Amino acid sequence: MPSCAACNQIIVYGPIRRDDKCFCSHACMNTLYPIEFCQRCLDETHEPSDISLSQAGGCGAGFYNSLWQGNCPTCGSQVARVWIALLCVPFIPLGRYRVFYVSDFEFIARRIR
Ligand SMILES: [Zn+2]
Ligand SMILES: [Zn+2]
Repeated sequence: MPSCAACNQIIVYGPIRRDDKCFCSHACMNTLYPIEFCQRCLDETHEPSDISLSQAGGCGAGFYNSLWQGNCPTCGSQVARVWIALLCVPFIPLGRYRVFYVSDFEFIARRIR
């Protein structure tokens, strides 16, 4: 089993991979990688004006991500389709965003043009 490159814990379930490293959580990954969109990602996105996406992901009144399409090779941000979820079911699609997870439950996002 892999161990986390930041805190050295054995990762039992679902390591987060970045380059050739494994991390136990997004918080651990963020200790080694800055949360910063690269210029290319900035150019293809803009600040979301309709909603605040700095809220918790997951179930309920938050936002729900699906359809991960890989990391940006430069800054590591991911493309996600963001939904408003009702009772853990994706309900209203909000569009495609580039996101960084700040922790396992919080993310920052910029809307793709
Ligand atoms: Zn860790
Ligand atoms: Zn990027």
